[in-house]
Amino acid sequence: MEKVNLPILKKKAKKIAEQLGVELYLVGGVVRDWLLKGGEEEFKDVDLVVSSSRKHFAILLAEELNIPLEDMEFWDEYFVVKIGKLIDVASFRREYYPEPSVLPKVSEAETIVDDLKRRDFTINAMAYRLWPEPEELIDPFGGREDLKKRLIRFLKRDSFVEDPTRIYRAVRYKERFEFEFEEETFNRILLDKNYISRLTPARIRSEFERIADEDKLINCLEFIYEYNLVPNEVVHFLKKPNRDLIENFLRSRKEFNNEAFLITILSMILDSRLDQDDIELLAKRFAFTKKEMRVLEEIEVLKELALIDNLKEAYKLYIILSPMGKKISRLFTDMVEVIEERVEQVKLSGNDIINIAAKKGVRLLGKEVGVLKKRLIAEVVSSENGLSEMKQRELVEKWVSCKN
Ligand code: ATP
Ligand code: MG
Repeated sequence: MEKVNLPILKKKAKKIAEQLGVELYLVGGVVRDWLLKGGEEEFKDVDLVVSSSRKHFAILLAEELNIPLEDMEFWDEYFVVKIGKLIDVASFRREYYPEPSVLPKVSEAETIVDDLKRRDFTINAMAYRLWPEPEELIDPFGGREDLKKRLIRFLKRDSFVEDPTRIYRAVRYKERFEFEFEEETFNRILLDKNYISRLTPARIRSEFERIADEDKLINCLEFIYEYNLVPNEVVHFLKKPNRDLIENFLRSRKEFNNEAFLITILSMILDSRLDQDDIELLAKRFAFTKKEMRVLEEIEVLKELALIDNLKEAYKLYIILSPMGKKISRLFTDMVEVIEERVEQVKLSGNDIINIAAKKGVRLLGKEVGVLKKRLIAEVVSSENGLSEMKQRELVEKWVSCKN
């Protein structure tokens, strides 16, 4: 099951809610996206909340959806049951933060409104009651209005202190929907961004993994760069995100899914100077794996690759890199393909060059023939649309005449 069909899910879930006599709500992203896109039917994930009996409810729903028990996960501590990868069933919850920026303690709440209070932004703090009927939007914080105004607004002032991952969430929604930050929310992000440093590496990593999944990845990263939204110890490594690298990545994203996180971080630090200690610091703060760290250690090579802005330079690097068979060089396959095609177009052999020169009365040394051939390849590779054989001959004629 790749996506959830909302009308079908609604029908099945309502029947079970009626049978168990529980309140049933859709919450979070699905409500937001449904209002935003107007009646979409397929969703990548759906969150349901019930007033009680969540496990019983979830097991019955899984049965209805033909999802086997092995594909269910019971997260009792968080009052959540996962049905497959796409559907979550939770009970009303409240959260308590024993300290700023640590994971909250979760306990059961009495009402849906209490549950909505713990959420991040007004647009995510709406519920849609499915049962008991009539169906109704529950919107205690004005989420619908903010959707219309295209605003990201927090629910409370200490929202980002409690949970600085919400800063990254805010950036994702802002860029994804092309919304603005409500003024006070934005001010709070700037005031409280230091709390990002308190997040564990695993939590930071997981936020960047989610950012890496966004279509507007580049915009998210540019925003993060502009406002230094990373832990303090690594702020000085941040450089303007390297668009070439990200664009190359986006082009072949499917192939690079496992590397998405790595490439995302790379694109932000690529232009800074890194020694081994720096690499270790970054690896620690972003929870890099050993394998990812090895790629990071090749950063000098990567830098050169990503900074390529003309094919002539790229060709040189291609010659250097291809025998190494570095996995990362696959990022540049598109470019390499163009280069290879162009190199095929070089029709003149060493002998041809010697003959052209001889006609002009010039005798070339073996070394000089080699230099001219390389020069010709570079010229063809870096030309706008390639060069015809005649043009190639003309060029060589010109070069050898200059020698006279
Ligand atoms: P997306 O389309 O990115 O999945 P979503 O709104 O579904 O967006 P999820 O991360 O799936 O986001 O979370 C579901 C809901 O849980 C959110 O809409 C929000 O109400 C709540 N939520 C998730 N993370 C947080 C958080 N860190 N703080 C407060 N509420 C959160
Ligand atoms: Mg979601």
